[in-house]
Amino acid sequence: MPVYEYDCEACGDRFDKLVFHPARDPKIQCPRCGSEQVSQRLSLIAGSSCGSRESGTTSAACTTST
Ligand SMILES: [Zn+2]
Repeated sequence: MPVYEYDCEACGDRFDKLVFHPARDPKIQCPRCGSEQVSQRLSLIAGSSCGSRESGTTSAACTTST
């Protein structure tokens, strides 16, 4: 299940979103303030073998988990 976490850079909110085609859905808006200034990161659901949740890393290696 392609669930991604986002951190809003405008208001600091954190939210999850299902993204089936990230490349085709580039505009992710913060549900709280509507800003598109959000940083994407893989959630534990999508990349459980990708280290700490708090690391905030989105390296390519994280996308290859089963
Ligand atoms: Zn926001």
